[in-house]
Amino acid sequence: MRATLIYGAGDVRVENVPDPAVREPTDALVRVLRACICGSDLWPYGSKPANGHGDRIGHEFLGVVEQTGADVSGLKPGDVVVAPFVWADNTCDFCREGLQTSCRHGGLWARDGVDGGQGEAVRVPQAQGTLVKLPVGEDSALLPSLLTLSDVLPTGHHCAVTAGVGPRTSVTVIGDGAVGLSAVLAAKRLGAERIILMGRHKDRTDLGRAFGATDVVAERGEEGAEKVRELTGGDGTHTVLECVGLKPAIDTAFGVVRNGGTVSRVGAPQYPDVPADFGVFLRNITLTGGVAPARAYIEELLPDILEGRIEPGRVFDRSVSLDEVPDGYRAMADREALKVLVRP
Ligand SMILES: [Zn+2]
Repeated sequence: MRATLIYGAGDVRVENVPDPAVREPTDALVRVLRACICGSDLWPYGSKPANGHGDRIGHEFLGVVEQTGADVSGLKPGDVVVAPFVWADNTCDFCREGLQTSCRHGGLWARDGVDGGQGEAVRVPQAQGTLVKLPVGEDSALLPSLLTLSDVLPTGHHCAVTAGVGPRTSVTVIGDGAVGLSAVLAAKRLGAERIILMGRHKDRTDLGRAFGATDVVAERGEEGAEKVRELTGGDGTHTVLECVGLKPAIDTAFGVVRNGGTVSRVGAPQYPDVPADFGVFLRNITLTGGVAPARAYIEELLPDILEGRIEPGRVFDRSVSLDEVPDGYRAMADREALKVLVRP
């Protein structure tokens, strides 16, 4: 089959790889209907040292079950399913606590002999726990929105949930990428009335307004933080959803959070330190967030998509074939595309 490999920074290729097959009785074989490129795929695309061979890549996909192992129940060939960006048994103690990202028998896509999502098919380990059946057909117009259940929508939701967003909390969302916009949608869905979106790409912040942002601050750094404080009577917001992962973003987060408030971060951090000095201590700031256990949230978010209350698939502004994936990476890295949908 054809699948995407990354050879190093700026070097993504689509090549022939061995066909996946059911190996363990807990596996399923899934033919990929839709996949996508993640903002976090851009970190290796920007900096991965060349190692002479390609590594599989991609962790967001939905598809059709083609075959199941002997121990997989509840799934059958022909089912349309979505995979969260971490596979898990969904039965261990961590999974039962809703922390499938710490599953004792789980792992990451595109590592240790497990397929990546940006290919024609995937061997899915722990298929019964990992995959969620979608009550739609292969040609459903909802596929782009359903694909966001793999990562960006649950990630935005996790950010809002861990921050404690609710009807009485004001919110600042930092970042107008697909996760930031999903965080806006999630905050709105949880009842927040004041949602300030910090981002400087007008087409993206316009989508953020459509998703529920009440204010947009295009300025960055201290100037941006000052603007948010102005909008909130000098205090900042109860919650801050940091959806970037860079040092200036986390610094801004602490600059716009209200005393007693919460900063949640879901942008994969590209920095080693967070502000935790005496000044932060005096302000009673809570820092939370982390990698989102997407699997824990899919059943809760799914009906809103099926019933048309939210349309998170609007984050996809470009669609490519599998062979065009390298250009999809380039387009996202150049900020030409917000998020690229892949149709193998
Ligand atoms: Zn588990």
